[in-house]
Amino acid sequence: MNAPSPRRRWWRRLLKFAAVSLLVVITLVTARVLYSFRDRSPGYQVALAIDGKAAAANPRPLRVGFGRVKIDPDLSNPSEPIYIAGFSQNRTATSIHDSLWAVACVIDDGHTRLGVVALDAIGFFHDDVIRVREQLNRDWKIDYAIVCSTHNHSTPDLMGLWGPNYLRTGVNDRYRQQVIAAAAEAFGKATQSLQPARLSPHEIPTKPAGLLTDTRKPEVYDPDIRVMHFTSPTNGATIGSIVGWANHPETVWSKNREITADFPGSLRDILENGVKQNGNLLEAGVGGIHLFVNGAVGGLMSTTPSVTVRDPYLEQDFKEPSHDKTRALGRQLASRIIPRLEDTNAPSTDRTAIHVQARTIELPLQNTGFLLAPVLGLIDRGHSRWMQLRTEVALVTIGEVSIACIPGEIYPEIVNGGIEKAPGGDFDLNPVEVPPLRDLMPGKVKFVFGLANDEIGYIIPKSEWDEKPPYLYNAKKGVYGEVNSVGPDAAGLIHQALKELAGRLPP
Ligand SMILES: [Zn+2]
Repeated sequence: MNAPSPRRRWWRRLLKFAAVSLLVVITLVTARVLYSFRDRSPGYQVALAIDGKAAAANPRPLRVGFGRVKIDPDLSNPSEPIYIAGFSQNRTATSIHDSLWAVACVIDDGHTRLGVVALDAIGFFHDDVIRVREQLNRDWKIDYAIVCSTHNHSTPDLMGLWGPNYLRTGVNDRYRQQVIAAAAEAFGKATQSLQPARLSPHEIPTKPAGLLTDTRKPEVYDPDIRVMHFTSPTNGATIGSIVGWANHPETVWSKNREITADFPGSLRDILENGVKQNGNLLEAGVGGIHLFVNGAVGGLMSTTPSVTVRDPYLEQDFKEPSHDKTRALGRQLASRIIPRLEDTNAPSTDRTAIHVQARTIELPLQNTGFLLAPVLGLIDRGHSRWMQLRTEVALVTIGEVSIACIPGEIYPEIVNGGIEKAPGGDFDLNPVEVPPLRDLMPGKVKFVFGLANDEIGYIIPKSEWDEKPPYLYNAKKGVYGEVNSVGPDAAGLIHQALKELAGRLPP
């Protein structure tokens, strides 16, 4: 046999080098993918069932506490810009117009202690919620801690999608850790201020006109305002409230670069301190600490620049996005709520039982767009199992109040009814997520806490899911929503899980 020619030897070496290089690249990419999708909270599982039997058999005085911690970002370091979430990339914050807060409320029926914190934030992933829970002091004895985001579009990016460009995250990890610690601290402050309380639940019928619009058919809203008002049993003074309403806090819109708590901040301030204009008090507040929780904002509830909001105190209209328009929206809500808070004859209770049904669920990740973002390092979120996201749903009752905790932006038609078998939809099927969630919920005042314990994006009825032409309702262009949803089966799975939890609550 002849030895191989120098040329053949050279080719062999090149092939070998190419094969080894390919293997290295494949290994590195695989390692990167596996690392990106690693479970951040392995084994984490919530299966909580507090049936309230002990509280019903032996009722004890109701107690409540409120606490809040500022969560303003540090804007003092130009080399570390803060990217504002929502709308588009590379929107850096220039200043703080009004402060952001983590507002917490702890409710105790003498047997069970429930905590809620609402963050002025775009959204908070489930792993970050778990980090908050890990920081809760055991002595605070909080049986179930709910962490909600107001979905504010003028706050620092906490999800990663709005960085300087499509390849870099917008999350400042130092700020994320600040928010986690502040949320836990707010729970602590609320626990330490627990005091005897009466609870008055209110449902305030509200029309959407002049407040918000629905930018995607079918036109279904969740427009009513709901309030849990806590007062002192001894002197009737307001301790605080939890207000639920459903609308995107994005009144100042896409060009704004000033940090603001948007209408939830304006509303909370007015309820506490009243309506002030140029130093004059136009209406008194009720004192206390007020917590705003957003609701069914999907599909899509927004005070767009096309909506004119009238300031009920100035009797002046605001259409262009501005902080004045935000204030007008806050005043619109407050003007409906304050008379209820001042109603000393409203039905109330000072002894009532808390029930909690909370459960970890897995949702299949069907949106392949959500696969690239973690690999690129934009989204810091793993899979509980391959292509499965861990999230959580809960159903809570406090006397005549019930609360559905939804881990994202649910479409109002899933909550209130009105899901359509939409012409042009990708699936030719009748509505899946029926009956409406509120029909499954007990009690008289039925809250939906949206973006509770997670933000998985839009929760869209399967029969309205539409990515492929022909488009919904003969539209020429595709609709917005699906790109920010984990997939068409998420809504049905969440609805099914809540239906099961409702079945476990006492009648
Ligand atoms: Zn949204």
